[in-house]
Amino acid sequence: MDKKCLSSYTLEQLAAQLKEMGQPAFRAKQIFHWLHQKHVTEFSAMTDQPKTLLAKLEEEFYIAAPTIQRRQQSKDGTVKYLLRLSDGNCIETVVMRYTYGNTVCVSTQVGCRMGCRFCASTQAGRVRNLEAGEIAAEIYAAQKDIGERISHIVLMGIGEPLDNFDNVMDFLTIISCADGVNIGMRNISLSTCGVVPQIDRLAEKKLQLTLSISLHAPNNKMRSQMMPVNDAYPVETLIAACRRYQKITGRRISFEYSMVRGVNDSPATAKELANLIKGMGAHVNLIPINPVDGSPYSATDAENVKRFQKMLMDLGVNATVRRRLGSDISAACGQLRREEAAKEEHL
Ligand code: SF4
Repeated sequence: MDKKCLSSYTLEQLAAQLKEMGQPAFRAKQIFHWLHQKHVTEFSAMTDQPKTLLAKLEEEFYIAAPTIQRRQQSKDGTVKYLLRLSDGNCIETVVMRYTYGNTVCVSTQVGCRMGCRFCASTQAGRVRNLEAGEIAAEIYAAQKDIGERISHIVLMGIGEPLDNFDNVMDFLTIISCADGVNIGMRNISLSTCGVVPQIDRLAEKKLQLTLSISLHAPNNKMRSQMMPVNDAYPVETLIAACRRYQKITGRRISFEYSMVRGVNDSPATAKELANLIKGMGAHVNLIPINPVDGSPYSATDAENVKRFQKMLMDLGVNATVRRRLGSDISAACGQLRREEAAKEEHL
């Protein structure tokens, strides 16, 4: 029998599971504390639990406990990890240091099937979804390594979070739980390439997190070239979903816009972008891209990024240029994992 991941259970699910096993209700909170406050990785470390229960849990469950396979640290304090999961697969996690606190960027899938042309994470497709507990364990591993609290989370690493919807929802419940690390929803940002039906599903949850849309282009011709997901959910369908999302949740949307030289960085494109999202009170994050091997794209120069930002602002759209953290450790999202896979192929 395949073991199930015990750290993927929300407190409520854990209580139901333990009840089924004939255990008293208070055990759920105790075990949840061990997993999500003390971050134990062995059942034997839960010293206040009966040995018979621990033996039973060990028989049926495992605790997500990835190991650090590689670690790169930038001069600006950014740390990038290649984490190895219990089945041997690797994912990436990044810690960024901001004045408001430490932010961790987590992966939600092993690989990705969305096929964005500027992205290294998708080049070998999707291998599997991450369990809720595996996503939480990325945070615990990073927190333990830097010896400081993580206060903010962005779901922007390897994978499309809304393509792993149920596990990501459980992860959000676990990580924001007062009996766990208790990271508030307002400190969490979820990024999607635009899977419209799942944006509608997320809206119904009415979470206080920030939804961030990887837009990257204001029209279908341009966006479909960069992101195949646009063929299924074209720009106008996506923006309509964003407007519905804002109406239902009362939360502002943030748009990610990677600046690619000669593709989406002209003044005419800035105007088109402003027209598309005007009146939404949305925020645009302009991102100078990290070059990826095997991708035809190169980064817009800094001056042009500034000009593009100014045009948006003049047209009434709030826009900022994302600070490029960790540029001396270079690796764009997904590159460490690809390098590791290439190394293993040659062993
Ligand atoms: S950018 Fe995100 S959604 Fe697109 S392929 Fe990469 S990981 Fe997947």
